[in-house]
Amino acid sequence: MEKSVSEKVKILQDWINNAKNVVFFGGAGVSTESGIPDFRSENGLYRQKFSYPPEVMLSRTFFDAHPKEFYEFYKERMLAVDAMPNAAHEKLAQMEKKGKLSAVVTQNIDGLHQKAGSKAVYELHGSIYRNFCMRCGKAYGVEKISSQSGVPHCDCGGIIKPSVVLYEEPLPEDAWNKAAQAIENADILIIAGTSLTVYPAAYLVQYFKGDFCALINLAETSADPKSDLFLRAKVGEVLSQIEV
Ligand code: NAD
Repeated sequence: MEKSVSEKVKILQDWINNAKNVVFFGGAGVSTESGIPDFRSENGLYRQKFSYPPEVMLSRTFFDAHPKEFYEFYKERMLAVDAMPNAAHEKLAQMEKKGKLSAVVTQNIDGLHQKAGSKAVYELHGSIYRNFCMRCGKAYGVEKISSQSGVPHCDCGGIIKPSVVLYEEPLPEDAWNKAAQAIENADILIIAGTSLTVYPAAYLVQYFKGDFCALINLAETSADPKSDLFLRAKVGEVLSQIEV
């Protein structure tokens, strides 16, 4: 008979107690309990109606051709500056502080791990908090984007682009290398809140060669059969039960 979620939480607790090096790999599902919709759940952005599909609007070709429409979608749906960390972000920050967790690898752009206090966060898809002028390279914070209507422009007249990885763009090399190394050195890998369908990010979990892999996700994913423990539950609810 399949173990209950609380039995599985106990197993995860036991692994964490005995682990030297835990690494967390997360996606949009880590922030749904903070009120930010993911892409592929029932209320996810892919189920909502926009004039173009989200994967089109979040492509570099679309950004270059239709910056106004890009920013309308981005500001309404992606720029979650008021969102607050949930129990998952908070517990991961605590685990790092106590020396239990060496890194958070995230596909998210919302900055909630840092808001919760995590330091070693490798952002594979960039961050809404970093923006730059495409003409002169000047850096801007998120206020420059959130406080203006329309397409944000630099003092030099160039268009400002968020440092978030759009479809067709490469992933930041530094974050990728650090994430790969962290996962390779981990003895426990916790994968959570990700459909593991966005590549190349999802490929990173293949670097894991440690003892145990736990997967916490509401929907089934391609990694289920490979994980040692699959908790079909909310990541915030699971991690809030972990004691460190
Ligand atoms: P996804 O939408 O493809 O998958 C999310 C997965 O999380 C789903 O399988 C869903 O069942 C699960 N899930 C949702 N809420 C959960 C919860 N509370 N607990 C456990 N599981 C939960 O997301 P993805 O795999 O991260 O890929 C989508 C891409 O879009 C990524 O690049 C991601 O960064 C980006 N994105 C980011 C944000 C953000 O920064 N918060 C929001 C939307 C999309």
